Amino acid sequence: MSSGATAPSPEPGPERVDAHTRVTVMAYKLWRDFSANYPEPLGTAPVFRVGELHRRAGVGINKVAFEFYEYCARMSLGVARADVGYCDLLGVAPDQRGTRAASWLWKTGVKVPMIAIDKEYVTALVPRDDQRDKIFTRLLLHEVGHVVFHWKDLRPGIPRGDAAPLLGATVEQEEEAWWFASSIVGLAVGDQARRLRAGGANDAAWPEI
Ligand SMILES: [Zn+2]
Repeated sequence: MSSGATAPSPEPGPERVDAHTRVTVMAYKLWRDFSANYPEPLGTAPVFRVGELHRRAGVGINKVAFEFYEYCARMSLGVARADVGYCDLLGVAPDQRGTRAASWLWKTGVKVPMIAIDKEYVTALVPRDDQRDKIFTRLLLHEVGHVVFHWKDLRPGIPRGDAAPLLGATVEQEEEAWWFASSIVGLAVGDQARRLRAGGANDAAWPEI
C-alpha cells in the first residue's frame, strides 16, 4: 500500500505532530519489547548485527524483520500467524489510475495478515541486489505499520483465491506507515551504533540506514 491514497494529498498541518509522536512511541515500545524478548537480547548483542539489517533469509525477507512482523501481528491482532509472499500486484488497486504497487497488505482467513511484495516490479526499478534488499525490508515494515495502526479501518477488496487486498488507506495512514517503517530502521541502526561505540569501535552502522 505504498501509494494507496484515496483523496488529494493535503499539506501536513501542526496537528500531525501528535500523530507522529503516537506512531513513534508505539514503534519504540514494540521494538524494545521485541528486542528484550529476542533469543539474543539487547543486553548481549543487537538483534540486527552489523551488515545483517537487510540480509535476506530463505523466504526472501530478512529473518529478524519477518519475526518482528509476526510479533506485531500477535500483539496487535492476537494472531499466531503472519504470512509474506511475492505476488504480481498489477491491478490490485483499481483506484490508483494505472500505478503499480510495490507491496500490499492482504487478509487471509479471519484476520491473518499477508504482506505481498511485487518482486518483479521492484527488481525492474532497483536492479542492485543490496539496494533492493533494503527496499524489501522497508516495504515489509511499512505494511507492518498498517497492521499495527490501520487494520480495523481497511476493507477487503475483491479476493484472489482465499486472500483479499485491504483497501481504503488514507493519505494520513500512508504517511504513518512510512513513519513507522523509518522509526524501526532508525531504532535498529541506533542499537548497532550504541553497541559499537560502547565497545570502543567507530560507528560502522552507517551503511545500514
Ligand atoms: Zn501503505
